[in-house]
Amino acid sequence: MSDSDARIQRFAEFLARSGLKTTRQRDRIVRAFFAAGRHVSAEELYHRLQTEDRGIGLVTVYRTLKLLREAGLATGRQFGDTYTRFDPNPADRPHDHLICTRCGKIQEFEDASLHAVREKAARSLGFTVTEHKLELYGFCRECTRLAGGRPVRSGKAARPV
Ligand SMILES: [Zn+2]
Ligand SMILES: [Zn+2]
Repeated sequence: MSDSDARIQRFAEFLARSGLKTTRQRDRIVRAFFAAGRHVSAEELYHRLQTEDRGIGLVTVYRTLKLLREAGLATGRQFGDTYTRFDPNPADRPHDHLICTRCGKIQEFEDASLHAVREKAARSLGFTVTEHKLELYGFCRECTRLAGGRPVRSGKAARPV
């Protein structure tokens, strides 16, 4: 069973538990969401789906994304936009984000040492972490270059403080 099939199965189980039916439209939306990769907005998903089924409304897409969140299979993120983008559940693959404020590109990174820092901080304060979010805003490599050759790092390597 592929990763995506397993998640579709989990969603079907969630629907059954919630007394909801699996509909053809819901199924299409869920498949499109898992196929879309990451950081997709409801509007983008809706436009993608229009090519295969013009009967799917934006409201149905919103509702299905909401159900995916309730099922623990998706998470909503804001990234400084006015609208929400959706990622598959971070518990399935923990990662953080770099967001370019000029072109809107979102890049992901993963660093195990960040996890250790968070754990240490939380432990020393007796805090139980249930969710975390790290977003770095700035300019991507391309935008930094286009911004007139002002490099992120000058001759001396910039040291984070
Ligand atoms: Zn992401
Ligand atoms: Zn950029």
